[in-house]
Amino acid sequence: MQKTLLLTGANRGLGLEFVQQYLAAGWRVIAIARQHADALTAAPPPSLRLLSLDVTDWHAVATLGDRLADERIDLLLNNAGRYGGDAQELGKLDAEEWLRVLAVNTIAPAMLVQALLPRLATGAVIASISSKMGSIEQNTSGGAYLYRSSKAALNAANRSLALDLRGRHTCVVLHPGWVQTDMGGASAPLTPHESVRGMRAVLERVMPADSGGFFDYDGAPLPW
Ligand code: NDP
Repeated sequence: MQKTLLLTGANRGLGLEFVQQYLAAGWRVIAIARQHADALTAAPPPSLRLLSLDVTDWHAVATLGDRLADERIDLLLNNAGRYGGDAQELGKLDAEEWLRVLAVNTIAPAMLVQALLPRLATGAVIASISSKMGSIEQNTSGGAYLYRSSKAALNAANRSLALDLRGRHTCVVLHPGWVQTDMGGASAPLTPHESVRGMRAVLERVMPADSGGFFDYDGAPLPW
């Protein structure tokens, strides 16, 4: 039976690559973006459903489950992310931007899971794209207060999800590697294709015993 992926941040970077690779692999894809890319709107295949949504529009998120009443989701992928620009170095910290970063990176993933729980298939996988920059243990260079704290908090929330949904869903956080996207920049070593291919392989292998874990794009466990 055809499996269904729902993901956020589908219009560019890793999100667009996820859409393309899962469609090519025969999945049905529900792609969420604030504004969709021409690459998807020009000639959407029948297995692609496009939804326009800002993941911090809490009312729209809360009612998403109703909009998707006809769907059964096998993989929920929280991919949308916000870095926070240069407002995140000591001396330049911007509280309003910090709240925006937390809203996208930490709060939205949990609110989406809450809204979509009734639409998840038994045994569905919930994956959120985190970052090694959210690892407290691996923070040896300081700075990046907004982004680091938002991903560390995402990891913490994922552990609670894993425990609360134990026996029903597998919940993991993934580091995509350092990837050539608008966020990763041109000097990153990995292409979106390589990163997403690696994460897809990890997502195919994850077992209920992995729930609550933090994994690199090649499947290696990462420190908190
Ligand atoms: P990009 O900056 O290329 O893309 C970010 C995506 O998030 C865009 O689709 C953007 O949409 C979407 N987004 C941001 N805010 C919102 C919002 N409020 N509502 C809906 N969508 C939103 O980043 P990447 O593709 O590189 O990043 C994908 C994920 O991977 C992120 O979670 C990021 O933190 C993580 N990551 C990336 C790394 C890298 O090296 N690239 C390294 C570690 C983690 P819009 O176009 O509308 O802004």
